[in-house]
Amino acid sequence: MSTDTHIETVLIHGGFDHDTQTGAVNVPIYQTSTYKQQSLNSPTNGWEYSRTGNPTRAALENTIKVLEGGEAGFAFASGMAAISAVLMLFRAGDKILVSRNVYGGTFRVLDKIFTRFNLNYELVDTGDLKKIEERITPDVKAIYVETPTNPLMEITDLAGIAALAGKYGIISIVDNTFMTPYLQRPLSFGIDIVVHSATKYLGGHSDLIAGLVVTAGGKGLADKIAFIQNSTGGVLQPFDSFLLIRGIKTLGVRMDRHVQNAEKLVDYLSAHQAVSRVYYPGLKEFAGYELNASQAVNGGAMFSFELKKGYDVRKFFHSLKVFTLAESLGGVESLACHPATMTHASIPADIREKLGITDNLIRLSPGIEHIDSLIADLENALNESRS
Ligand SMILES: *Cc1c(COP(=O)(O)O)cnc(C)c1O
Repeated sequence: MSTDTHIETVLIHGGFDHDTQTGAVNVPIYQTSTYKQQSLNSPTNGWEYSRTGNPTRAALENTIKVLEGGEAGFAFASGMAAISAVLMLFRAGDKILVSRNVYGGTFRVLDKIFTRFNLNYELVDTGDLKKIEERITPDVKAIYVETPTNPLMEITDLAGIAALAGKYGIISIVDNTFMTPYLQRPLSFGIDIVVHSATKYLGGHSDLIAGLVVTAGGKGLADKIAFIQNSTGGVLQPFDSFLLIRGIKTLGVRMDRHVQNAEKLVDYLSAHQAVSRVYYPGLKEFAGYELNASQAVNGGAMFSFELKKGYDVRKFFHSLKVFTLAESLGGVESLACHPATMTHASIPADIREKLGITDNLIRLSPGIEHIDSLIADLENALNESRS
């Protein structure tokens, strides 16, 4: 296997060299639940049962481990299955501090499922390390962070979070879905666990649901997650593991174009008379610009913007022809989302407004189409939205 560390090369060669039986350059889809044992207590090369381990899934798990620079990788049937497995590290009476703008599904599973088992959480502004430190009581066992957050792109100091976690002997967890290891590697700042919705950029084609976990070494986390994965069983299937490996190979070229398109669209929208505000970590005048630049390659490809009063969001979405109105993000096709009625609909309107998630806020996930098609589409929809 190649030991080259350029990430573009690792994306292609990092997880799997070739099939030793046939020389196949791609990992075969081992569509099997079980493996023949030649005699008692002698599983073939360690493979026993596919919930516990499967060679196609293992190739994927090795790929994400190498990409994030961790000790071990784990593949799950969805981002939420991956996140839930990580939350199962904790026990009744423990508390987790969570980014206040955390992904809605993460909030829901904490609020509606894990609290049933007395695992508590508290939403905090993870942009403010002092405020977090004030909240670290003896029952706090973890800090869970997204950076940037959705949809306002707030940035959290990864090294700062890791240092706090180290100081108090608690576990730091980062959802790296928005940036991917191509743009940001939280473990390199001392974070303990990275989770992904691989449904988004890693898969990249809006054709699968998957989740990944990567653990850093030193705290026995790999063995614990392996035990939880095998015990609770939310594993990714061999075919989806294969698709995800295939998606990850082109992550670099896709992200380059996603980011390039995002930067051009942000420039275009920032200068547009219909737009009052743009939230993008790659904008010099954005509050989190410097911090993000210190820990990520660039501002990523996700951004949000607000229409001025007098412009109608309904008409805007209705007029889009290239952008698709849809949940999700990170696919090759451009998607547009209305946080107030879609991803953040469960938050009461007054709290939403206070957070800045106004009814006129629009989130875009630029795909890899030609930039002129995307600008023309927005230009038309902005004109149509004038009411
Ligand atoms: C989509 C998403 C998730 C949930 O992942 P699924 O694959 O949909 O289960 C978690 N975190 C973030 C940031 C996401 O965007």
